Amino acid sequence: MTGATPPADVARATLTIRLASPRGFCAGVERAIRTVEDALALFGAPVFVRHEIVHNAHVVERLKAMGAVFIETVDDAAPGRPLIFSAHGAPQSAYDEARARDITPIDATCPLVHKVHQEIRRHVGKGRHVVLIGHRGHPEVIGAMGQAPAGAVTLVETKEDAETITPPASLAYATQTTLSIDDAAQIIEILTRRFPGIEGPRRSDICFATQNRQEAVKLIAPGADTVLVVGSPQSSNSNRLVETALVAGARSAMLVDDPRSFDLEKIKGARVVGVTSGASTPEDLVESLLARLASIARIDVRTVEKTQEIVSFKTPALLAG
Ligand code: SF4
Repeated sequence: MTGATPPADVARATLTIRLASPRGFCAGVERAIRTVEDALALFGAPVFVRHEIVHNAHVVERLKAMGAVFIETVDDAAPGRPLIFSAHGAPQSAYDEARARDITPIDATCPLVHKVHQEIRRHVGKGRHVVLIGHRGHPEVIGAMGQAPAGAVTLVETKEDAETITPPASLAYATQTTLSIDDAAQIIEILTRRFPGIEGPRRSDICFATQNRQEAVKLIAPGADTVLVVGSPQSSNSNRLVETALVAGARSAMLVDDPRSFDLEKIKGARVVGVTSGASTPEDLVESLLARLASIARIDVRTVEKTQEIVSFKTPALLAG
């Protein structure tokens, strides 16, 4: 562990902590984790989970210890046992594969990701080609593209992509739920300029939780010496919080995957530190980071609240019943 002996400059510092709210677990992540816990209680171990249930190693390790087995392909699940699909969603083919192997699928896909799936299927059903704005290789994008036949969806990652694609005439767009609000808006502007008849959501499919966390980080970032985003490198919304903090005026911003091993040298000389966390990050990791900061300086924690979140999603029917 780094930082057992605090650097001298940091040890003398008084840190003002701007703590963003909302931060951490969103309703979709809470539901997904609850789904695994409830399935373990109902069916006993092992319960298989396709992909990390949410992108946070600490959550995954805790569920592993309870009896969850994380796999990447349906082939690795055992027939007769439940298989949970992660919050990010999965292609239709993965559900078909599970049923063909006598595996009971339990769907922990976030309802807001499902909404995007339904939009894509509706557009394709009406003969429209879909432009999906998102990050190649992210499981949510793989799942969304897998709602339509091959060739029916074109992925756009950047403004340059949006300027150069040449899709068929009848067009619609959809977005990944965890994008940067500002980047997505610029890409949508290009698409609507180039393809005036393009169909799409009123603004984007970026979910309320992603928007709220980005708006909150915009409040804590201006003038901050650094913004620390507690979250995993695989977490799309956590990475977007780092980018948003930098654009909003933080002098530096970085992910903190594990607060216990965070190198305190990285904030040497800082006086004002913003703290937030991605939608898949448990609050105890934020508390652990604050405790480490408090161990090297007097900290003055000021919560900066953008809005309150009161959303919750129901447990999947199979478990609720
Ligand atoms: S970040 Fe948004 S889309 Fe993803 S699980 Fe949370 S609420 Fe659902």
